[in-house]
Amino acid sequence: MSTEHVDVLIVGAGLSGIAAAYHLQHKCPGKRFAILEGRGAIGGTWDLFRYPGIRSDSDMYTLGYSFKPWTDPKAIADGPQILNYVKDTATENGIDRHIRFHHRVRRAAWSSADARWTVEVERRTEQGTTETVLITCGFLFMCSGYYRYEAGYLPDFKGMADFKGRIVHPQAWPEDLDYAGKRVVVIGSGATAVTLVPAMARTAAHVTMLQRSPTYVVSRPAQDALANKLRRHLPASLAYHLIRWRNVLFGMYFFQLSRRKPQRVKQLILGGVRAALGPDYDIATHFTPRYNPWDQRLCLVPDGDLFKTIREQRASVVTAGIESFTARGLRLSDGRELEADVIVTATGLVLQVLGGIEVMVDGRKVDFAKTLNYKGMMYSDVPNLAATLGYTNASWTLKCDLTCEYVCRLLNYMDRHGYRQCMPHNDDASVTPLPSLSFSSGYVQRAVADLPKQGSKRPWRLYQNYALDIISLRFGKVDDGVMRYS
Ligand SMILES: Cc1cc2nc3c(=O)[nH]c(=O)nc-3n(C[C@H](O)[C@H](O)[C@H](O)COP(=O)(O)OP(=O)(O)OC[C@H]3O[C@@H](n4cnc5c(N)ncnc54)[C@H](O)[C@@H]3O)c2cc1C
Repeated sequence: MSTEHVDVLIVGAGLSGIAAAYHLQHKCPGKRFAILEGRGAIGGTWDLFRYPGIRSDSDMYTLGYSFKPWTDPKAIADGPQILNYVKDTATENGIDRHIRFHHRVRRAAWSSADARWTVEVERRTEQGTTETVLITCGFLFMCSGYYRYEAGYLPDFKGMADFKGRIVHPQAWPEDLDYAGKRVVVIGSGATAVTLVPAMARTAAHVTMLQRSPTYVVSRPAQDALANKLRRHLPASLAYHLIRWRNVLFGMYFFQLSRRKPQRVKQLILGGVRAALGPDYDIATHFTPRYNPWDQRLCLVPDGDLFKTIREQRASVVTAGIESFTARGLRLSDGRELEADVIVTATGLVLQVLGGIEVMVDGRKVDFAKTLNYKGMMYSDVPNLAATLGYTNASWTLKCDLTCEYVCRLLNYMDRHGYRQCMPHNDDASVTPLPSLSFSSGYVQRAVADLPKQGSKRPWRLYQNYALDIISLRFGKVDDGVMRYS
């Protein structure tokens, strides 16, 4: 078993891992780093998900990196475009040379005496066997996303084995699935379902979106006319940052309005749906959620594609529970039967903390459910470890970029002062632990008890607010009295 040492070990070669490497290259030029990637490809989410129509549900001016302008005319981009953007960033900056594919991190153990992590990695060899590799590092930077890669969430539906057609989960889309001319039922009404329905309806005989309860659905233009105009007249980077800020500010305004005047925002969204589907459509049943806007993520549909497909009767929405699968389709809780050749279970993700790795600190196993999240990136009493996590109410990359910048500031500060360990620690008894996510969505509620907590005040509080995070992460002191250096 060989042991190698690097200064910073990045786990994950998705959008965040590539950002982390870029920031390290530019802000901590002397640091030796490596990227370990469990899969055989760059891109994480944007490589894994292959279902028809896969696309972003936020605009690329905020989902793009701060340091690489998004220049495609499409603001709501297709999955392969996003994947190419991430890959291009990696190759243009020579980051791809630092990636070790088929290296899955299983365990990390911190030793305060050595001020080092020893990381246990399962490496898949060219012969298809696995071997264990040990790597030590001074700082562990987890860019491993927020959900389990192996399989998505699948409720235990009654009678699934009886169904004679094909059952497919969007997280494991079979390449050979031919649904042309077939009757498709998509179970779910989240971001994935509203993407799949219009995409599959192009060739399917009919697509039914079967939802237990409705979601807020908002239409936005796929292309941003102002952005495209600005790009013709201004340097790419200037145009990008202007539109990025406009979108950030609009997103923050809309979120705040939803919190303060939920009824007004609700009427605004439902007005949009009514205009798209016409006065006779039963919006109360199919598009009026029981919760307020932003109690769960809103679903974005580019150019109203979902509504258009419904109007053209190539797709329809059914709102009811599932009693059981049958040989020919589904029996619903209201007694109706839905016949199908293909059933897509767009039932969501399984949230996972830090890529499912086991973490030990000086021989003690860390229970992350008992830790407090420091500035949305580090964990109480866990030294030299940060994780990139995005916002729930804005694009992932906004927070990811800030986290990477902050980690670089932290590493440079430690180098300047000769410190080898940094660890956030709470000794303020008035800080109370709170759930880290307030969404009422099923995937959040299923996992929230196992997730790290946020605290009731700074720096443990998660504001989900880009402007406040800029102040805290870009300009706030790294030696804030809570971070312990040694
Ligand atoms: C279908 C879908 C659509 C989305 N659309 C949007 C959107 O429009 N806007 C938005 O802001 N967000 C969106 N998100 C959230 C999205 O995940 C983020 O935007 C972003 O891609 C996350 O990047 P990441 O690199 O942090 O994580 P990921 O993309 O999840 O990549 C993590 C990488 O880490 C690797 N990894 C994990 N654990 C280990 C381990 N133990 N050892 C080694 N490697 C490991 C994985 O193999 C993977 O390559 C979407 C998510 C999904 C699932």
